[in-house]
Amino acid sequence: MPDALLVLNAGSSSIKLALFESGGSGDPALPCKGMLDHHQHEPQMIVKDLKGNVLFERHAAAEADDEGFFADLLRWIDGFLAGGKLVAVGHRVVHGGLKFFEPVQVTPAILQALHELTPLAPLHQPVCLAPIEAMQRLRPDVPQIACFDTAFHHGLAPPMSRFALPRHFEQEGMRRYGFHGLSYEFIARHLRDIAPEIAAKRVVIAHLGSGASLCAMRDGRSIDTTMSFTTLDGLMMGTRCGAIDPGLPLYLQQQRGLSADEIEHVLYYESGLLGVSGISADVRVLENSDDPRAVEALELFAFRAGSAIAAMAHSLGGLDAIIFTAGIGENSPEVRRRICAGLGWLGVELDEQANSADELRIGARTARVATLVVPTDEEAAIAAHSQALITNR
Ligand code: ADP
Repeated sequence: MPDALLVLNAGSSSIKLALFESGGSGDPALPCKGMLDHHQHEPQMIVKDLKGNVLFERHAAAEADDEGFFADLLRWIDGFLAGGKLVAVGHRVVHGGLKFFEPVQVTPAILQALHELTPLAPLHQPVCLAPIEAMQRLRPDVPQIACFDTAFHHGLAPPMSRFALPRHFEQEGMRRYGFHGLSYEFIARHLRDIAPEIAAKRVVIAHLGSGASLCAMRDGRSIDTTMSFTTLDGLMMGTRCGAIDPGLPLYLQQQRGLSADEIEHVLYYESGLLGVSGISADVRVLENSDDPRAVEALELFAFRAGSAIAAMAHSLGGLDAIIFTAGIGENSPEVRRRICAGLGWLGVELDEQANSADELRIGARTARVATLVVPTDEEAAIAAHSQALITNR
């Protein structure tokens, strides 16, 4: 077996993991992908090859900590690589602040600096840093590489980067950062291979998963995006509200007596598809429900996404293509149909058959705007960065 890179992509309820070959001799056993899933009553970790064969599986009691899973995973990797070694672990880190816009090898000083960014992403940053610390304890000799979700939007410039707040706030870091950058970066690169005719044009990527955002991209670079200072802004999401009147949290605090923690919980965990439907954050459940509230939630989701696509087209000065990606974007013809139905005036029109079949090109032949479905792969983007960083050391 060749040497390998491990990628850990930590989200709020699960950690996606992937093992990639390092260097590139083309071993067919790599890559393999897996998940540490906390959704289950008993957390479980499963790694499968790309054909879906289970290579590693571990279940544990509900209170088991992640470090135990990682220790077993590393033991399994050592055996699986049979002489090859683990050369680096790449991690997704949600926030790089103003300082980190390229992947870095994590040193104690850098880890400290990343912890100091926690107030900018209080619910997500600690979740991303915990696996780095666990891996440092388990394998102190293996480089840990941090790749930032904010980095792809580093070039965002005024007016897109700016809030209409007193100027000194911006100098203190209160600006529009943007997230989902590793996903957007993967799609930007991949478009050069699969759809070169649009890769350099005016493209809106709709990353619609549990978290959701848009990226307005020209020449493969982000020029605007819907998430901003935190991962709450922009689109309606699974349990997050997206953009709301900033006066509303003040009202909840001042008139309804909710604490900051209670408001945070409402905005991050009780809103979005779950809050509006009162049923579920999962589009699959809502699409299968007869409850009118489920339809209303999906309608609002699509309306907000459509409005935001129009705003991104304004930033781009027009629109040549929309790319749908992530769990909802890749798998829900119904959501794509609802969103595109409101965008005919922009030149968007779907080929219903291609859309229903989740094909790559789902736009009508005559449409002015191309519409595509492109599966994202944040882990591949992290692996590519990690490989480049250890190669160029
Ligand atoms: P994250 O990585 O942010 O957890 P994903 O990109 O995996 O999110 O997206 C998860 C969401 O994708 C689920 O909550 C669900 O709503 C949606 N989803 C997944 N599969 C389907 C499907 N077949 N049809 C409709 N929606 C789906």
